[in-house]
Parts: sequence; structure tokens; C-alpha cells
Amino acid sequence: MRIGVMGGTFDPVHIGHLVIAEEARYQVELDRVMLVPSARPPHKTGTSQAGPEHRLAMLELAVRSNPGLEVSDLEVRREGLSFTIETLRELHRIYGSEAGLFFITGADAILEIMTWKDPEGLLTESQFVVATRPGYPLDRLVEALPEFNSEGEKAAENILFIETPALEISSTEIRNRVAERRPYRYLVPEAVWQYIEENGLYG
Ligand code: ATP
Ligand code: MG
Repeated sequence: MRIGVMGGTFDPVHIGHLVIAEEARYQVELDRVMLVPSARPPHKTGTSQAGPEHRLAMLELAVRSNPGLEVSDLEVRREGLSFTIETLRELHRIYGSEAGLFFITGADAILEIMTWKDPEGLLTESQFVVATRPGYPLDRLVEALPEFNSEGEKAAENILFIETPALEISSTEIRNRVAERRPYRYLVPEAVWQYIEENGLYG
């Protein structure tokens, strides 16, 4: 079994997330991709953010019609901070140690990886799949990797780079648009747009 795992705050989920999840599923031949919203993002602050139950509900709506994508409430249910390494270990306990885990991130997120808890452990538990994102050229990224630590060269071998259609969308941009009453309807799935409107999120 080859399982993609995509972490994030998904506040809210948008079509940029879904495009890279689906593209990774196709290019890396994954059986499924799990979207795992974090409960309490260790390094995110700001106002007008939605609680975990809203973020989970929007994700469920977003993947409803695609059997290849699913949502996991693993990190939301766990007490305390969300550490990816613990999530990957838990998934290995659930699916067996022989299951292949592929942690999917945008190019901006991979640059932070070595600042996460136990970066070497992360690369032991899973392979990384890095999707290009506008403004984060891959060659700069590859050059930067060996600088993280002495394991950088080895780390680079565990990272797959995939090219995905570039969508200049972020959750921050969507939250700002909602707050400023600018259009955002087609940047998220229809059902997510409805959910945000009905629940008055990010207002
Ligand atoms: P925020 O603006 O709140 O940081 P975000 O849009 O960056 O939100 P996150 O939940 O932080 O979304 O990101 C989850 C994952 O999705 C990260 O790996 C991030 O790199 C990736 N990602 C987010 N938006 C895009 C996009 N438009 N294209 C490619 N990858 C993306
Ligand atoms: Mg982000």
C-alpha cells in the first residue's frame, strides 16, 4: 500500500491543496492520499482562524466526491501540539510497517522541514513528495537541502519532486478576501464556499 499524507492547517482547504493531492496521487501512483489537518499549528498565529471542527468539516466536503482522497482527524484528536513525526509513526502502526508513506508538501513547506521535530526521523518514516509552488524555484531548493545538515545529501535522495499546475492561491489570501468581501467563490470547492458563507467564517 502506498499512502500519501498531506499535512496543513487547511484554513480553509482550497483548490491549490486539492490539485497537488490529486497530482501526487497520479504521478507517484498512490493508493490514496490522506489530508491531515493539524490541531494546533505550532508556528501559526493570526486572527479570524477557524476551529478544527470547521476545518475538518470543510475538508470532508472538499473530498466527498473523490474516492482517492480522504480526511484524517488523527492530529485533531491528539492532545497537544501537532508533530508530523508522531502522525507518520501512528499511520505506520495503523497500516503496518510495510506500508509506504509519502508526505506531500508544497515547495515552501519543505524548506522548513529541517526545523521540524526530528527531521531525520521524518525521512526514515516516509518519502517526501514536493510539489512546485509559484515563487519557489526547485533548483534553489535542491541547492539549499545539503546545507540543512550533514545528512542533507541523503535526505535529498528521499525527496521526490513533482511538477504540478501552478495555482497562486493560499488560505491566507482566501481569509483576506472573505474579510474584505472580495470574491473567492471559485478558489475553493463549491461546497466549501457554501460552508464558509453559512457559518460566517473569516468574516
Ligand atoms: P496559509 O496561507 O494559511 O499558510 P496555505 O494555503 O499555505 O495556508 P497550508 O494549510 O499552510 O495552506 O498548506 C498545506 C500544504 O499545502 C503545504 O504543504 C503547502 O505548501 C501546500 N500548498 C498550499 N497552497 C498551495 C498551492 N497553491 N500550491 C501548491 N501547494 C500548496
Ligand atoms: Mg502555508
